[in-house]
Amino acid sequence: MLNNSLVALDRAHLVHPVASYRQHERNGVRVITSAKGATVFDAAGRPLIDGFAGLWCVNAGYGHESIVEAAARQMRELPYATAYFGLGSESAIRLAAELAERAPGDLNHVYFTLGGSDAVDTTVRLIRYYQTVRGKPEKDQFISIEQGYHGSSTVGAGLTAIPIFHAHFGAPFDWQHKIPSAYPYRNPVGTDDAAIIAASLQALKAKVEAVGGPERVAAFYAEPIQGSGGVIVPPRGWMKAMRDLCAALDILFVADEVITGFGRTGPLFASTEDDIVPDLMTVAKGLTSGYVPMGAVFLSDKVYDTIADGAGNAAVGHGTTYSAHPVSAAVGLEVLRLYEDGLLDNGRRAGARLMKGLNGLGDHPLVGEVRGRGMLAAVELVTDKAAKTPLPAAADTARRIFDRAWNQGLVIRAFGNGILGYAPPLCCTDEEIDAIVERTRLVLDETL
Ligand code: PLP
Repeated sequence: MLNNSLVALDRAHLVHPVASYRQHERNGVRVITSAKGATVFDAAGRPLIDGFAGLWCVNAGYGHESIVEAAARQMRELPYATAYFGLGSESAIRLAAELAERAPGDLNHVYFTLGGSDAVDTTVRLIRYYQTVRGKPEKDQFISIEQGYHGSSTVGAGLTAIPIFHAHFGAPFDWQHKIPSAYPYRNPVGTDDAAIIAASLQALKAKVEAVGGPERVAAFYAEPIQGSGGVIVPPRGWMKAMRDLCAALDILFVADEVITGFGRTGPLFASTEDDIVPDLMTVAKGLTSGYVPMGAVFLSDKVYDTIADGAGNAAVGHGTTYSAHPVSAAVGLEVLRLYEDGLLDNGRRAGARLMKGLNGLGDHPLVGEVRGRGMLAAVELVTDKAAKTPLPAAADTARRIFDRAWNQGLVIRAFGNGILGYAPPLCCTDEEIDAIVERTRLVLDETL
């Protein structure tokens, strides 16, 4: 009853993100009512394992009393303090310091946002500022990667390379250029790591030249693992090679760790494992484990100091009311404590088990490839393994796979091209990981 009226209210009033509005009206919403650990409960009280941690964000799992308590304490003491006018709050200052201490290299300066899209947006604005005040305003072109996702803000959506984020929006994306994804499973140069890296380096060099040379290019953006593009894992060494090329060409390198940050691939930041220090780094999602909204941009000393010196006594005109929100920061501090109090370790253990389990599905006739790192994985389905023929790209392919998983008591991401995405909470037990794998096999059998 309650659910029926909610479905009607939802249909009439709630505009859902990245959805076919008409299809959603027809299908109706599924309401999640509560959650604990790695389990969410639907309106009928049925438990489902959340194999996608909400939207790759609830890394700590649901129902942590200590996180709730940290937020409540902060709300009682000081629910809001602006970071404008030279003011600040203790939780935001401490979180910035704790993050800077753990970030790669000299990423010592942290600007807080509300999520990933405005973190990416912030990088675009600050990079333009940086290039201008250092006397290179003509460095105004940006390069990112096919199948990349960098959010859906007006500016940042230009960096995203998923067609629905551009079609019909009419935004001026002509400052934005793409190179092919490294995508080992479907790379025209084959599967050899060195060949893939060489091809990407060549593609970036060629794109830079096509755009007018290094003197025109401001920055290059890469996700350590392309998440929304289908969990595409580049070869080891790929990030470092691309980062080094950017340094040689005087092009800023931005690591977008909105998904990979905070233990998703094992360490706190994937860049550490990739052995790179980006010029800028974006995070969100796991920063607060999704309990409250927050994202952040890390700036290297070089970028921060150049902007600071360039602005002099003028204010750098970038900011929002809720930047460095004290409640989000208090949650961030507690979540960080949890990561280091065993969650990262559990995530590594569970990630190894997940990859082993999913790899065991490789013998299924529909499975073309299993890939991933840590608690971030994908199973790519094909109709012909040798030819790597994708599933028919019917509009409802993803929905049908999602529904089958849902009916098995499992939430996963089903991409339209027949890729199943996994990003379970790092708190998963062995039994939960095994159940994710077993239920996936049932979904595959039904999909045959
Ligand atoms: N960057 C990456 C790599 C992402 O995966 C996402 C979201 O999934 C974003 C940016 C945008 O973040 P948000 O949805 O918090 O705005």
